[in-house]
Amino acid sequence: MLFTILFLAIMGIVLGLYGKFHKRIPILMYHRIATVPGERNSLPAEKFKEQLDYLKEHGYNTITLNDLYNYYVKEAPLPSRPVILTFDDGYEDNFSTALPMLRERNMKATVFPIANWVGRENKWENFNQKVTQTMDWDKLREWKAAGMEIGSHTLNHPFLTQCDENRLEQEIMTSKMILQEKLGDKIDFLCYPYGFFDDKTIAVTKKSGYKGALAIFDNVPLWHQDMFALPRIPISSKQPLWEFALKVGRFHIVFILLRKLERNVKRLARRRKKSVNW
Ligand SMILES: [Zn+2]
Repeated sequence: MLFTILFLAIMGIVLGLYGKFHKRIPILMYHRIATVPGERNSLPAEKFKEQLDYLKEHGYNTITLNDLYNYYVKEAPLPSRPVILTFDDGYEDNFSTALPMLRERNMKATVFPIANWVGRENKWENFNQKVTQTMDWDKLREWKAAGMEIGSHTLNHPFLTQCDENRLEQEIMTSKMILQEKLGDKIDFLCYPYGFFDDKTIAVTKKSGYKGALAIFDNVPLWHQDMFALPRIPISSKQPLWEFALKVGRFHIVFILLRKLERNVKRLARRRKKSVNW
């Protein structure tokens, strides 16, 4: 009797979790595709190639954010094992290194350029990153013509949660208008710089006519699915292929939940240590 109750309880939990999370599709977050010592956000070309080959060999299909929107909102069908590849900041090596690899494998990806920093050096922030170029307008147009997608990563890459209403509208709405005008196409998705957002940010994003917005998994409440807080999984240069496989696999949401838990525990431990030192 006890065994039956326990079995039913476990089945209930498993089915509940399945119902909640089975529609989740892994969205991967890349930055530069280049070998840059000391920068974990920059993925060497060989590693990127290895990951694309892994996806091909294991029957994954890359889709766009518009495909995801149509699936979530209009219940349009998706190919088997869907996955989304996104690139933040619009670096030139996304065009020169990643695009040929994607084209060769008939794959899709989304890039998020910063509207005021198109075709310039990456000096919008002061994080001791190696200086490099971003894609210019022609390269972005070619990216689009190759069947890839483009979104907005704001005007200047600020912390949106620190912006007042006026600045928020400029960063979110004006960047969309500039990109649309220069590229001659609709811009439907926003990528929050550093993954940070709040209710005000979401309200301005909705008002600006976006279909959705992307963050990073540890800043997102995972229990409720929200088109304006889509969780992404960072791809680091340090991770082995087996970790990549977990990040795109059927149980990627379990992996994300565990990582989120790990980060929260570390954050708590740091806070405790700080208060002891005081
Ligand atoms: Zn960025």
